[in-house]
Amino acid sequence: MIVVMKKGASALEISNVIARVQADGYQAHLTEGDERTIIGLVGESPTPLREDNYSTMGGVDNVMRVSVPYKLTSREYHPADTQVALNGSKAGGSKVLVIAGPCSVESREQTIEIACAVKEAGATALRGGAFKPRTSPYSFQGHGETGLKWLAEARERTGLPIVTEVMDPGLVPLVAQYADVLQVGARNMQNFVLLSEVGKSQQTVLLKRGMANTMEDLLMSAEYILAQGNKRVMLCERGIRTFEKYTRNTFDINAIPVLKARTHLPVIADPSHAVGYSEYVTSIALAAVAAGADGLIVEVHPTPERALSDGRQSLNYDGFKQMMARIRLVAEAVGRTA
Ligand code: PEP
Ligand code: MN
Repeated sequence: MIVVMKKGASALEISNVIARVQADGYQAHLTEGDERTIIGLVGESPTPLREDNYSTMGGVDNVMRVSVPYKLTSREYHPADTQVALNGSKAGGSKVLVIAGPCSVESREQTIEIACAVKEAGATALRGGAFKPRTSPYSFQGHGETGLKWLAEARERTGLPIVTEVMDPGLVPLVAQYADVLQVGARNMQNFVLLSEVGKSQQTVLLKRGMANTMEDLLMSAEYILAQGNKRVMLCERGIRTFEKYTRNTFDINAIPVLKARTHLPVIADPSHAVGYSEYVTSIALAAVAAGADGLIVEVHPTPERALSDGRQSLNYDGFKQMMARIRLVAEAVGRTA
């Protein structure tokens, strides 16, 4: 249930509602909009919720039931787009956020070089994995904390905020020391302990959709993070597994407008993992922007054929520059910039 306060409701009226929510055994989540405050009631309690108990309180405009199980994540609870700030840029505004970089960070020099190259081509953030979730235990697992240090150095040089994956709930504080955005990968989308930990960290999170998960599963996973009081969450459509074999995954373009309708959180598209082949990445990126994605996360490598992971889907510098030029045209056609 959500309690919408009247415009100009006093601080005392708001705190009275919060006290009532707590006395009923629920948690009160506050959203302060430009004009009015909304109080979300979440949790389980033996006390049944009655609209009347709240609608008659001072300063209350109306009381609504949220019909979906992901309360704080829903548009019903928070009608306006949430904008997630990232070192001077933001996701969820009119500018399409472009996060670019290698699948894995491979060396100090290369990380800095890629950061400079993607920045020059117009990227707004740098991606790079230091802890890699590989399907095979024999594949390259990433450089760990050393890789995080290289990313931090690349940020110092370029000013680009860092997006990097955290897989282990116990390592959230370590990764959060270096990263601007904690990526939760597709394979960990329903690692609920990890979700709660990234929520508690209050760090910005990029939550990727699992390859066999529905949009509702994704929204419920986001709810775990928001339930910890962390509203800085971006969702990511990165392709789902289907019977199709000519591509690595199937990009679910439906997810872009449908998620945008159901949640206030920014929606990012990952055309690299979605299609899996560099020659198709730009087409999928263009489609995602046309469909309303708030941003893109794209794999870029100076020599994709020698990359330690995901080379087949990585754009080289020229490919990334060309993608950016075309993204700007599509962004403009749909009333955005890039
Ligand atoms: C990645 O971003 O390199 C990655 C492993 O992505 P996903 O979790 O979507 O497979
Ligand atoms: Mn990858």
